[in-house]
Amino acid sequence: MAADIDGSALARAATLLADARHAVVLAGAGMSKESGIPTFRGDGGLWTVRGEPPLNQYETFSMDPRRWWERRLEQERHADEFAVAIEAAEPNPGHVALAQLEALGAVAHVISQNIDNLHRRAGQRALTEIHGNRMWMRCVSCETRWPRAEFPVDPEALPPRCAQPGCGGIVKGDTVMFGEPIPPSALHQCALETAQADLFLSVGTSAVVYPAAQYPISAAQRGVPLIEINPEPTPLTPLAAVVLRGASGAILPALVEAVRDARARGGETSHS
Ligand SMILES: [Zn+2]
Repeated sequence: MAADIDGSALARAATLLADARHAVVLAGAGMSKESGIPTFRGDGGLWTVRGEPPLNQYETFSMDPRRWWERRLEQERHADEFAVAIEAAEPNPGHVALAQLEALGAVAHVISQNIDNLHRRAGQRALTEIHGNRMWMRCVSCETRWPRAEFPVDPEALPPRCAQPGCGGIVKGDTVMFGEPIPPSALHQCALETAQADLFLSVGTSAVVYPAAQYPISAAQRGVPLIEINPEPTPLTPLAAVVLRGASGAILPALVEAVRDARARGGETSHS
């Protein structure tokens, strides 16, 4: 265990995870940042350099989806420094550990605010990407999703249309744009998972972006223990039963080991 992790908080978090039947995780941009994904705001951030995207982005798309697709195909041909940085990013030990917690049966579902596909690449299976996934496409009508690599686009027939029988809706990037409603199927899944949760973890998120931030808050308000893993205090900190300060890439792997230890101890107790 790294020397700067609070050992007693880690043990309490591990006991909660080992005993939980339906632990739900809200994951935020802190996890991506540890993989070298550029932030949006701050020094050298994507929006600091390029300017913030317009707040009516989705309205602009809806009025002229063909134009959006022309720009998208152009960007795919000429990747800029941000696109290159995102393509080069790999899942970090935090992503891997979160997927291991799922494989151990300690985590039931991850709600991620990240769009970079790194949870999926780390092996996370029960996952709702509430802001979409930049490597996927989505039909705006029926919400069917496809990996971009498996969705051929004819530049002579833009915008591409959904191939689901009887749909024919316009297909866009899965990333939720400014002004675009979060797909109802994603909101429904998040509400369902939160209602079932008997433990909630908030990992690498400042917990200020809604609706994502409301899930740990509503769980905590009905008495579900909340574990916060983040380098800085957040609005969730006063609600948290356990607080672990630091990078998710250091704390989550330690938590995997601690959950294994807690289970081994629990097993010994029940046999003695
Ligand atoms: Zn469709």
